[in-house]
Amino acid sequence: MSLLSKIFTGLQKTQNNITSEFNRIISRSPKLTEDDTEELEAALISSDIGISATEEIIEAVRKEYESNGGQSSSILKVAVSVVESCLSKTTNSLAKNSELTVVSLVGVNGAGKTTTAGKLANHIKNTGGNPMLAACDTFRAAAIEQLSSWGSRLDIPVISSEYGADPAAVAHDALNSALSKKSDYLLIDTAGRLHTKHNLMRELEKLHRVISTKYNGAPHETLLIVDASIGSNALIQAREFNKSVPLTGLIVTKLDGTSKGGMVVAIQNELKLPVKFIGLGEQPDDLQQFSPSEYARALFFNG
Ligand code: GDP
Repeated sequence: MSLLSKIFTGLQKTQNNITSEFNRIISRSPKLTEDDTEELEAALISSDIGISATEEIIEAVRKEYESNGGQSSSILKVAVSVVESCLSKTTNSLAKNSELTVVSLVGVNGAGKTTTAGKLANHIKNTGGNPMLAACDTFRAAAIEQLSSWGSRLDIPVISSEYGADPAAVAHDALNSALSKKSDYLLIDTAGRLHTKHNLMRELEKLHRVISTKYNGAPHETLLIVDASIGSNALIQAREFNKSVPLTGLIVTKLDGTSKGGMVVAIQNELKLPVKFIGLGEQPDDLQQFSPSEYARALFFNG
């Protein structure tokens, strides 16, 4: 499947929910009534797109109705262009240094950190890079094996230790190894933690302190991995993690199979933090660099 078809397939649930409502409301009314507006708002809000994008879309739809009447495809195009402009306010590319770029992947348990570490390493390798993985989740049963198996499947080196080892020490060793092997990216898979667990947040701060002392500017990216199905709760997670480890962006996983795909718009609009990649499945190629125009279109059109 082409990359473009993947995003349309992945976002199908969200898109179906929004556009079936839009088409139903638009087709019954030559004029936009208050009731219509409320129903359009409800359809947008249920995708977790956020209040501010919803208001902007409704305003633009109202204007389109006034000037050109309610043509379904042109109303949806208007919505696409509002969303695209909300999404284009930040840069979405991954940081790149002339030497090594260190990327720390953080988030709660089960968000998809380990899987994303594997998929991101695959993306870097496929675009000509030379990545290394660091298994710094020394807490969750099977996390080390899970990352090692991604490494052997993709032929990408993985630095690991044993369960219970100090994650900061593993990160330190991995940094030494990445520098000596001249890797261009070191991807650090950290243990899942709730932002309310202060001791675990201190542990993450320590890991970041250790690598920044060892290598100037590291980590160059701290990406929060969030599961799309939590919708707008991702905003709370991002704000709280940001207090301990300043985030440079997000990767939103499991967009396949959720109807809350609008949350990506709310995140960029409200946090001003870029979404850098999106996860659309569990296979190595199911990670896509985030494109505002493709994403905006996939929320309202199925191809
Ligand atoms: P971690 O605890 O944050 O490291 O989470 P894992 O990487 O172990 O992922 C938790 C589960 O989510 C696993 O079953 C993954 O295969 C699955 N997963 C991760 N990313 C995606 C995605 O983009 N789409 C789907 N459908 N599943 C995903």
